[in-house]
Amino acid sequence: MIDQTRILCVLARERSLADYAPGTINTRTCSQCGERVLLAPSSQKLLASDPTIELVCFGCVELKPDDTHDLAPGAEDEVRDFLKKGAH
Ligand SMILES: [Zn+2]
Repeated sequence: MIDQTRILCVLARERSLADYAPGTINTRTCSQCGERVLLAPSSQKLLASDPTIELVCFGCVELKPDDTHDLAPGAEDEVRDFLKKGAH
């Protein structure tokens, strides 16, 4: 049973925007600690489709055994494109 959908985010101060897919933003904040986090385009779309989704950074998240994990739609393509770009 899913009672709350959350997007796991990396803290903006821990990673460079350049390490992420084009279009990644750093203007959103973790719902727990208020620190700025990175949000890839796929996650931005997910959030736009459901504004009740919480953003939680990896430092704040508490995973329960029955939590399920899915990539945001399109996230796999972003990773693939990024890896392709880095291979040049
Ligand atoms: Zn946090």
